[in-house]
Amino acid sequence: MKTHVRVLVIGGGVVGVSTLYHLTKKGWRDVALIERTELTAGSTWHAAGLLPLFNMSYTVGQLHKYSVDLYKRLPAETGQDVSFHVTGNLRLATSRERMDEYYKYCGTANTIGVPFEVITAQRVKELWPLVELGGNADTPAIVGALYHPDDGHIAPADLTMALRKGARSAGAEVYEHTEAVAIERTASGEWRVRTAKGAEISAEHLVLATGNYARQTGRLLGLNVPAIPVEHQYIVYDESPELKAYRQRGGRELAVLRESDKSYYLREERMGWILGPYEKGAPARFADGVPEWFGRSLFPGDLDRLVPHVEAATRRVPALEHCGIKDIVNGPISYTPDGTPLIGPAWGVPNVWLNEGHSFGITAAGGAGWQLAEWIVEGEPGIDMLAADPRRFGPYTSKRYVVKKNEETYRNVFTVHFPDEERPDARPVKTSPVYDKLSARGAVWGQRYGWERANWFAPPGVARRDSWSFRRSNYFEHVGNEARLMRERVGVIDLTPFTKHEVTGPGAEAWLDRLVANKVPAKIGRMALSHALTVRGGIRSEFTITKIAEQHYYVVSAGAAERYDGDYLLKSLPADGSVGLRNITNSRGCFVLAGPRSRDVLAQLTDTPLDNTAFPWLTAQVIEAGLAVDVYALRVNFVGALGWELHFPVEYAHHLFDALFEAGAAHGIGMVGMRAMESLRLEKSYRMWGSDITPDYTPFEASLDRFVRLKKGAFIGREALERQQAAGVPNRFVTLEVHEVTDADPLGNEPLFDKGGRMVGRATSGYYGHCLQKSLAIGYARTELATPGTELAIEILGERKPATVLPESPYDPDNLQLRA
Ligand SMILES: Cc1cc2nc3c(=O)[nH]c(=O)nc-3n(C[C@H](O)[C@H](O)[C@H](O)COP(=O)(O)OP(=O)(O)OC[C@H]3O[C@@H](n4cnc5c(N)ncnc54)[C@H](O)[C@@H]3O)c2cc1C
Repeated sequence: MKTHVRVLVIGGGVVGVSTLYHLTKKGWRDVALIERTELTAGSTWHAAGLLPLFNMSYTVGQLHKYSVDLYKRLPAETGQDVSFHVTGNLRLATSRERMDEYYKYCGTANTIGVPFEVITAQRVKELWPLVELGGNADTPAIVGALYHPDDGHIAPADLTMALRKGARSAGAEVYEHTEAVAIERTASGEWRVRTAKGAEISAEHLVLATGNYARQTGRLLGLNVPAIPVEHQYIVYDESPELKAYRQRGGRELAVLRESDKSYYLREERMGWILGPYEKGAPARFADGVPEWFGRSLFPGDLDRLVPHVEAATRRVPALEHCGIKDIVNGPISYTPDGTPLIGPAWGVPNVWLNEGHSFGITAAGGAGWQLAEWIVEGEPGIDMLAADPRRFGPYTSKRYVVKKNEETYRNVFTVHFPDEERPDARPVKTSPVYDKLSARGAVWGQRYGWERANWFAPPGVARRDSWSFRRSNYFEHVGNEARLMRERVGVIDLTPFTKHEVTGPGAEAWLDRLVANKVPAKIGRMALSHALTVRGGIRSEFTITKIAEQHYYVVSAGAAERYDGDYLLKSLPADGSVGLRNITNSRGCFVLAGPRSRDVLAQLTDTPLDNTAFPWLTAQVIEAGLAVDVYALRVNFVGALGWELHFPVEYAHHLFDALFEAGAAHGIGMVGMRAMESLRLEKSYRMWGSDITPDYTPFEASLDRFVRLKKGAFIGREALERQQAAGVPNRFVTLEVHEVTDADPLGNEPLFDKGGRMVGRATSGYYGHCLQKSLAIGYARTELATPGTELAIEILGERKPATVLPESPYDPDNLQLRA
């Protein structure tokens, strides 16, 4: 065994081996993998081998597409067959909501180039003659289906062996029966791994791909990895006479069938069937680690949980009735609280990478290995990986939280994924101090990064709940009222979850200046919207940087980016101690006070002059507000109104809230939720980090040129921007008015088409602009089509709607209200 490698992958399931394979593809040959027993001994050996291309996520969809393409060419490349049966994949719909979900997915599929067809019930019957089309209470009528002709199923162990062969032939080493039991950092900054046999191997980079063992491997490095497996079963049936007869008549292998509304899949297996449900009540396992006795083992089957799905499947496919059950496979399947794997850097430790938490790991392995290898070798991934970045979770992912959320995610695999869905388990967990006050005002809560955030406020007499939908729903009118309140009078948004860092010290300004594309403010009280870029020039983070005092900056970013941004800032700190970095997210609250009357309200609480000369737009002051001291008042906001963000020491939350509402009573003050904020910010073309601004787009493409100072000196991403400027910017940000919308506004991830029907871009967000009374989308289109007045089309739930490119900021384009 080697004693030193450039990258050591721990874990020999399909995901680890794919990572190894892709590292060699990137030209890194001095790489090795260690596996505690034998390759595929984890979840990989008992997986059903389905490769569904379907995924609602733009990121994960791309990973799955890459995998399916790779697996098709792997046998020719490696000489190892992988038993890829390209049967296609059929997802049935028995409700309008389900069809809406499929149509929403089709938008994403179009933007990433996944082939699919939306088909009728009659076509389902042609493709799948053994299915009953239904039409009664027990077996509802099929109203349509989504068909992927290109995917199917594969033999997971063969796939792993093909990847191993590919990796080995390029120089990678694989050591079986070699368990990592201890990991330490060497004086030179490398990682030294001790194995159960006492050998040691050191590496520049470590990849953890340990499947069900993710938590115990993480613990070797002090990491609390939010991946805990859940029990997952499938039934293997004996030969089916009907299936046999159908095949003998020359019928082709049937597509993998999914009846989403009954939460199961069905595929052929040796003239019989495999039936896999996603049941209610499947328990999380191994929250404290996998016990020694669990080797290549399975759990006993739980028939009670299976019965409702077996019954539903038998009604839909009566052929199931005539074949006996051969086996029940019940194995651990790794899950994360949102069901998406953890692919990317570990937080707090350098050169440690996670490829963990895979619940569709056979499908995702190709893409996950591809992007992780890209990240390790190039320093960043090739596509926007924010949705899979392990740092999207924070320290709040306690063991109990992960258990509850993973069980919830598992049982919801097949439920309709509404865009406004807010799942209830493990909540509330993180709340602003004024949570109860907001509840008393009718807050209807959502959750992001563990934080409860009020999505909207139900007025007295209106039920405090959502009717989730892909279309305008029960809260539409109330959200409109909140948006108008903000535009016409004064509203408060509780944005306590903002990520907040304090950067201090003699090196603070120079350090920040190198991290972001904008000029860091030099004068006390100035602020700058600033973007940290990737080396390729994509936008990795957005910070509002305010100079509070000499050598003291207040850095605010998205609430969901606390660990993502914090880790980046921490790992970028200079070694000389000239910069101090403190995460003060939880010690400062934030209320946005905005609207034409906001000055009148705030003036009652402070002696600080608030007029335009004393306190102009885009400046900040440390003020007293009511009895609260040390309040950072920032004259900016995300809604495009006169107003202030008040960032206060958190102990003043109740006092400040009451004081604002007392002072605001005469002005008609009210609470405003996240959905109204969405509507308001779209009317101003404000880009949201994570959806509209991502590493996929440079600030030039995002038309954020005014926040880029190419001449200021070196900063990360500058060379890439210069190259793009010279070569021409391929896409540009657009704001679109969408016409002919009746009840389904754009929501993001819709493809854009030109007059000739060619796809020319994608919407990244959309909503109804309640004050403009227009359906709005923002996103990216090819530069030549991004000029105002251009007519495009946008596909919303399967229908193409005309859309016109508007000048930026359709509401108050001259920012008169912000400057008022
Ligand atoms: C019943 C069932 C059916 C499934 N069907 C499908 C399907 O149809 N399609 C699909 O896409 N997915 C399916 N899955 C999920 C799929 O099996 C997993 O997502 C996938 O196998 C995960 O691969 P992995 O490499 O991440 O983990 P694993 O395959 O679990 O591999 C992790 C490896 O790490 C090793 N390891 C752990 N700790 C150490 C250590 N300290 N040192 C060295 N080695 C270590 C383990 O021994 C193990 O071999 C199914 C899962 C189950 C349970």
